[in-house]
Amino acid sequence: MSRLIFLGVPGAGKGTQALILSESQCIPHISTGDILRAAVKKQTALGLQAKGFMDAGNLVPDSLVIDMIRERLQEPDALKGWILDGFPRTLEQAEFLEKLLQEINQACDRTVNLDVEDEIVIKRLVERGKESGRSDDTEATIRHRLQVYRDLTEPLISFYQSRKLLVTVNGDQSMDAVTADLKTAIGPV
Ligand code: ADP
Repeated sequence: MSRLIFLGVPGAGKGTQALILSESQCIPHISTGDILRAAVKKQTALGLQAKGFMDAGNLVPDSLVIDMIRERLQEPDALKGWILDGFPRTLEQAEFLEKLLQEINQACDRTVNLDVEDEIVIKRLVERGKESGRSDDTEATIRHRLQVYRDLTEPLISFYQSRKLLVTVNGDQSMDAVTADLKTAIGPV
């Protein structure tokens, strides 16, 4: 059983690797970005509130994602383990998660920092934007999201380091090489 958190700049490959691992370990891949994009598409109340923040490359308010995660982690499939991709993204979210996990008697096994340089992810995301049409994958918005990551999310690296949960994997390699390194870094959890 594994409970894993993925950290890394936008475009580091968190979603791709989380999906591969979730399939091999038979645990759900929980991506707050995917949940929010689905809500935007369906025009739910959550989606309508989130859309403007997402299009501008800003984080949606903590309260919205916190409620989402509280519900999602208590669904039956998440009792066996999970991979969180895109959450937590602020210290407030990380502190909330720590308390929630205590309340529901769970613990995170590892936090993976998928490390890739900015110029490389900018290239990757500009390409993804052309293919997927994601409205936040334009160069100016990508640069803004990287800055938001530096300001709000990067402090989580020391947060998880201090809890002895952090492992770092080089994300600037072939997909298979990253998966192999990830499996080694996570180890038998
Ligand atoms: P990326 O890692 O490429 O930025 P995501 O799919 O993880 O893509 O996130 C897309 C957008 O969804 C973010 O820019 C943000 O607006 C919103 N979002 C996703 N997760 C969170 C979160 N935990 N807190 C606040 N906003 C979030």
